[in-house]
Amino acid sequence: MDEKTADALRESLARQQKHACEVLTPDELQAADAFCEGYKQFLTRCKTERACVTFLERKARANGFVPFEEGKTYHAGDKIFLNNRGKSLVLAVVGEKPLEEGTRLIAAHVDAPRLDLKPAPLYDDKGLALAKTHYYGGIKKYQWTAIPLALHGVAAKRDGTVVEIAIGDAPEDPKFCITDLLPHLAAEQMKRDLSKGISGEELNVVIGSRPLMLDGKAEGLKLNILRLLHERYGITETDLFSAELEIVPAFEACDIGFDRSLVGAYGQDDRVCVYPCAEAIFAIDTPVHTAIAVLTDKEEIGSCGNTGLDTNYLLDFLTEFAVSAGANPRAMLRNTKCLSADVNAGFDPTFPSVMDPLNAAFMNFGVVLTKYTGRAGKSGSSDAGAEFVAWVRKLFDENGVLWQMGELGKVDEGGGGTVAAYLAKLNMDVIDVGVSILSMHAPFELAAKTDIAMLFKACRAFFS
Ligand code: MN
Ligand code: MN
Repeated sequence: MDEKTADALRESLARQQKHACEVLTPDELQAADAFCEGYKQFLTRCKTERACVTFLERKARANGFVPFEEGKTYHAGDKIFLNNRGKSLVLAVVGEKPLEEGTRLIAAHVDAPRLDLKPAPLYDDKGLALAKTHYYGGIKKYQWTAIPLALHGVAAKRDGTVVEIAIGDAPEDPKFCITDLLPHLAAEQMKRDLSKGISGEELNVVIGSRPLMLDGKAEGLKLNILRLLHERYGITETDLFSAELEIVPAFEACDIGFDRSLVGAYGQDDRVCVYPCAEAIFAIDTPVHTAIAVLTDKEEIGSCGNTGLDTNYLLDFLTEFAVSAGANPRAMLRNTKCLSADVNAGFDPTFPSVMDPLNAAFMNFGVVLTKYTGRAGKSGSSDAGAEFVAWVRKLFDENGVLWQMGELGKVDEGGGGTVAAYLAKLNMDVIDVGVSILSMHAPFELAAKTDIAMLFKACRAFFS
């Protein structure tokens, strides 16, 4: 055996984990911070899946993307998009290689946990006008009380017109709020489990407190709200049956920390992956393999519905795209390499017991590769193959992408899933890659700026 020092052996044999500040030059660090300025604006403007898709389609068009037309022949460098029902967006840049050699596909989700208004939400009770909600995705309900909230979404009228509603985020707008009990009278509430601290039926949003006055007579608070809704949006109570209205936090995205190293905002799961992925595909000229970004809906409730990835909209697009190019769709799918871009839990020193520190992701230590997710013995996950993980490692190392391996918590501590399983179902190679998040699924989540910029670098390297 060679005479080697322990340091030399460590260098060559042990895994290396570095903080981004040890790896990035001062200029690169500044560029990472600058990248996050655009990201924060995106988060503040796009509070719903529809808002994300509308914003990104506009940006795609400005970058030369045109709507996909079935049967049309495309050439290397052509940029196309497919908008699925205003809630999912597929962007593609045609590559030089034949489609049978596969594509490079990144999928991220535009939906985020929130409170949806029920179909019949409005009522008044003892001097308050309120709206009932049904939560969407995995939330800790108590976190949604006593914070400023906004209302976003659409109401579709019977004549087919769709009214957009956005109230609570413009500086002059009113906001909304869910009340919580004062501590003085909360003795019984404080004995409840944290999961029931606030129940689903207690997530009622305060939307007003003044009655409609006619001839000096009070005619009801709900009627006053209906009058205001009709004045502003031309809608009636029945129109709310055909509406998708979401209650979301009214916070703006901002810097967190004396060193401004983190971004704090609502909806970073998974817009922290959507934004770098979209920016990366916008930056492409002509890739070797066709580059595809899938910005999908409904991940937070199991990828169901016709805008989620557990349905056929993506397969239909990919098949039509391949057939239009005279390529065998099955071969294209089989040879496609895919990143499922989604967040993982960052190690939180305040709650260390849920993590295996050997296999946890840390803030500022680069993008996190997650080989498998799932719960109770990897159930429901797509366990990425060793060969594909090695391929991704090599790609990242060769392109200066700082990365780490991370698992979602200790064995049997809980678990979760991503869209990886639905992409694997299409017979692609897929692994989860993303950004570590603190307070995931809370109304206000944290991510590290270096990790966000590193994901952009990772997506660019993967597409190029
Ligand atoms: Mn997610
Ligand atoms: Mn999530």
